[in-house]
Amino acid sequence: MQINNHELHRFLNELLKPEKIRDYCPNGLQVEGKADVRRIVTGVTASQALIDAAVEKRADAIIVHHGYFWKGENPCLTGMKRTRLATLLKHDINLFAYHLPLDIHPKLGNNAQLAQRLGIEVDGGLIAEDPNSVAMRGHLQESISVAEMAARLTSSLKRTPLVEGDQNRKLRTIAWCTGGGQGFIEQAAEQGIDAFITGEVSEQTIHTAREMGIAFFAAGHHATERYGAMAIGQYLAEQLDLSVEFVDIDNPA
Ligand SMILES: [Zn+2]
Repeated sequence: MQINNHELHRFLNELLKPEKIRDYCPNGLQVEGKADVRRIVTGVTASQALIDAAVEKRADAIIVHHGYFWKGENPCLTGMKRTRLATLLKHDINLFAYHLPLDIHPKLGNNAQLAQRLGIEVDGGLIAEDPNSVAMRGHLQESISVAEMAARLTSSLKRTPLVEGDQNRKLRTIAWCTGGGQGFIEQAAEQGIDAFITGEVSEQTIHTAREMGIAFFAAGHHATERYGAMAIGQYLAEQLDLSVEFVDIDNPA
């Protein structure tokens, strides 16, 4: 099957509703390529390695979580950015990027997908007054220890997390935010939640975890954000009968 690139754009916008959330980048079709889309590559970040893989696979479109044109970045098309865009344009590849909309989608989003892999039942947004809260809260059916949660993260994300907290402490309530969500640890601790899981860690995160008494797991920005792009790809393959492949460009951060 094939689809027109603007039709695919409309389909993705209807699915992910980018107009509902304020973001740090434009969401949707960021770089326009050929009209006919048959083969799609999905990935976490539109890095040169991902674009090169898409060229090799003769993809007509790339769909990522981390695209381009971030607020505050140098807008000039020089250096690394020029090379990435030159490759896309030379091969007429469409680049679609969905940042926060791909974090918060209730089924296909990074947060929902991570919860599913860890056996967490979603109770709602961590920031109650924000209908589009990017941090979530939920609970486990049965309590598990900090050590058991670390093992669960290691086996489901294929990466050893950084852990702060007593290994034997039992966890029942969990808050989480994929990617660079470490700033939400305080809100989680203030709500008395047992543990906070995110991708990245800052020096101060550890002090907050210790002093506010919340277990903390940094499981990798890349590792926690693989699953939204993967889920979108699978959904497109099922719904639109397109050829879609997730390409994992490994990143230890
Ligand atoms: Zn991210």
